Order: sequence, then structure tokens, then C-alpha cells
Amino acid sequence: MPRAIISARKQARFPLATAWHNMSNLNDLYRDIAACQRCSLHKNTTHAVPGEGPENSQIMFIGEAPGFHEDQQGRPFVGAAGQFLEHLLSLIHLTREQVYIANVVKHRPPNNREPLPGELLACRPWLTRQIELISPKMIVTLGRYSMDMFFPGKSVSKIHGTGAKQNGVIYFAMYHPAAALHQQNLRQQIEQDMLKIPALLAELTAPPAEAKPSAEQLKMF
Ligand code: URA
Repeated sequence: MPRAIISARKQARFPLATAWHNMSNLNDLYRDIAACQRCSLHKNTTHAVPGEGPENSQIMFIGEAPGFHEDQQGRPFVGAAGQFLEHLLSLIHLTREQVYIANVVKHRPPNNREPLPGELLACRPWLTRQIELISPKMIVTLGRYSMDMFFPGKSVSKIHGTGAKQNGVIYFAMYHPAAALHQQNLRQQIEQDMLKIPALLAELTAPPAEAKPSAEQLKMF
């Protein structure tokens, strides 16, 4: 069998195995995510939802998985939780166009059920590659599933609003915005956590003399 055919077939079945060395930018990644069949989630979806935002974003927000509206539009956080996320961003004078927004899982689980361990595992390389390409200064985890990727074994109710710095990147845990829609009492807490982001980012990007992390703001786990 000619080499080109073998590699085209291989690439269709294992897009990650062969495509990465050719991948030059986010559009290539989006194309590969759209064709992803690494788990069965793609079967009942309208669109893949790879994520969106500028390639040079300083902050990357990572949610759980697309819901109905995200699946319809192929864009992350465009439903009710997205509206609240946009409100949260406005508190720190940002718009959604200025940050990168992604999910741990790129295809909508049926009836918005929680992603299964095998689906999380299958989808993880896409997010890993996305983080490599964006190279954000700050990763904000929204909810349990994205928190678990960076702070395994922790509980969001315990660590929300705190961050940890590793290799020059701040990882900051927050409740999922949808939590505020179900539990009104969390709304203020989530807003307060969001308001911590600018100072943390400023500390990280300040010139070395001023860059000493303040123990108060950068609570380590
Ligand atoms: N919830 C998520 O976690 N992600 C979305 O894109 C929308 C809702």
C-alpha cells in the first residue's frame, strides 16, 4: 500500500499521532478537533467546540464541556453560563474577545451529562496542545473537571479563589459559572474570586524587582 494512503488512513484514525509535527497554528488544531473520533461523543453532536480567543491571550479560561447552545454554534460559553462569564469578565474590564476560552471536552456529552473518565482522557491531548499554542500566563479553571487536571484530588469548594504558580504560569481555581445559576449564594463568591485575577497577573508580569509574589495573594496549596 502506498505510504501516502497508509498515512492518510492512520491520520483519520489517530489524528494526534501523525498530525502534530505539521501543526502550525490554532486553525490546524481546530480542524483536527472537528474531525476527532477519539471517543464516541462526536457521534451525536452538531459541532465540535474547540475553543476561541486570540492566540496571544494572557489568560485562558477552561470550562467543562459544551452544552446545547455551544454545540449548536460551535463556540464555548454562549449560553446562560457564558453570559455570567461575560459579566465576570466585565468586572475586571475584559471582554470575551480578549481572553482564550476552552473546555476540557470538545464535543457535547448527551443531555449535558458529566464527561466520563475515558472521554476526559481521550480529549486531554487537544487541551494540552491548545495550552502549548496559546502559552497563557494564567490558566483559570472553571469548575471541577478543569481544576482536576491541574490540582488533582483537590476540592473546588476548598481551593476556589486561590492560585499556584508553576514554571511562570499561574493556575487559579474558580467555581464553574453555572454554579451561580443554580446556587445564587455562590454568585458573590465567584465575583470576588474573579476580582483577584488582575493583581495576580500584574505580579507575574511586573519587572523582576516588583515581581516578588505576595504570600497573601498567591496562596499556595
Ligand atoms: N459550560 C462549560 O463548561 N462550557 C461551555 O462551553 C458551556 C457551558
